[in-house]
Amino acid sequence: MHVAVVGAGMAGVACARTLLQAGHQVSVFEKSRGLGGRMATRRTEFGSFDHGAQYFTVRDPRFARALLTAQDVVRPWAVSTVRVLDELGHVLASAPPPREPHYVAKPGMSGLVAHWGQPLLQPERFGGLKARTALETRVVQIERDALHPAQWQLRLEGSDGGLQVVGGFDRVVLALPHPQARDLLLSSGLAPRLRQALTEVHVAPCWTLMVAFPNAAQPGLSHLGPQWNAARSTHHRISWLAREGSKPGREQIERWTVQAAPQWSAKHLEDDPERVKGKLLRGFAEITGIRAMPTHAVVHRWRFAQTQTPLGRSHLFDRELGLGLCGDWCLGHRVEDAFISGLELALEMVG
Ligand SMILES: Cc1cc2nc3c(=O)[nH]c(=O)nc-3n(C[C@H](O)[C@H](O)[C@H](O)COP(=O)(O)OP(=O)(O)OC[C@H]3O[C@@H](n4cnc5c(N)ncnc54)[C@H](O)[C@@H]3O)c2cc1C
Repeated sequence: MHVAVVGAGMAGVACARTLLQAGHQVSVFEKSRGLGGRMATRRTEFGSFDHGAQYFTVRDPRFARALLTAQDVVRPWAVSTVRVLDELGHVLASAPPPREPHYVAKPGMSGLVAHWGQPLLQPERFGGLKARTALETRVVQIERDALHPAQWQLRLEGSDGGLQVVGGFDRVVLALPHPQARDLLLSSGLAPRLRQALTEVHVAPCWTLMVAFPNAAQPGLSHLGPQWNAARSTHHRISWLAREGSKPGREQIERWTVQAAPQWSAKHLEDDPERVKGKLLRGFAEITGIRAMPTHAVVHRWRFAQTQTPLGRSHLFDRELGLGLCGDWCLGHRVEDAFISGLELALEMVG
């Protein structure tokens, strides 16, 4: 079986690896420059920011077993206990003792998917596996193969806008956020039943602010900021803050990643990024007490960030068409949900 996997986040890579391990041929297409999707790490001159997933937890024994193969890139991350009150005594931010261990990948969150994706990127190093990966390649259409109508072909768009068609796929996996999977199926005029199944799923957006204070390490400024490393927040603009340097294997420059609240993000989704940045900086100052102007401040908009209403089953697969859908949105909003979804889809396809 030759399977095309569209999207190389956690779900796509988990699915592709499982298919490879079962002896099938896999071609992965990813529109970004690297693997990881929303397990994302942005590198800057002031150090890296995990601007997507902040950490992950482990509940399913299959995820735990898979992580044993990634011990070099996974580290526990201890979040300090904290309670920040506003001037009226209301809780503004807090991190109670975690109920379960938090883990991060190193050197950044994208490191875990990058590690598991090695056989897809360099199959020759892994005994000549039948894999290939096209980065910076967006799939824009799925159609019946012109030469072999029982198979599929994909229309691809490169980062330079160049178009090409590749065919010969027995199955196609869409490991994408559900609106992107739905739009691709719709523009391809395919699978109304699969599209229908997505109507109840809801995923909220998220604006993310990344700030760095490289001068904070200089003598006299080392008191900058609070003495905690991460917290959830009830601030109307902000739901989460994390001090990047507190994660294992990170640069020590003082820098924070700040996630806006889902409702606030939805309301301000189309706002000018500079205005969003200004508002999130004010919220950040109110919570942390850091009022110094950061040397580096940028925002990133995630249109599809956190699942609010999941599909309620691990994946979708139309055996007759040979089309499958997976992603975190099938089960929830966590990295582990994406892994299990990709795994389960692959297992059904090979079963
Ligand atoms: C701000 C934020 C904070 C989060 N915090 C946490 C957290 O603390 N803990 C946690 O467990 N989870 C967290 N998550 C959720 C976690 O990141 C996701 O559950 C997980 O990474 C989703 O993986 P996925 O493979 O399903 O999707 P994605 O990671 O979105 O992968 C989809 C991939 O498809 C690619 N793609 C899209 N369209 C195309 C196309 N047409 N052609 C080719 N490629 C395409 C994308 O570039 C992307 O790489 C967070 C997410 C966000 C955004």
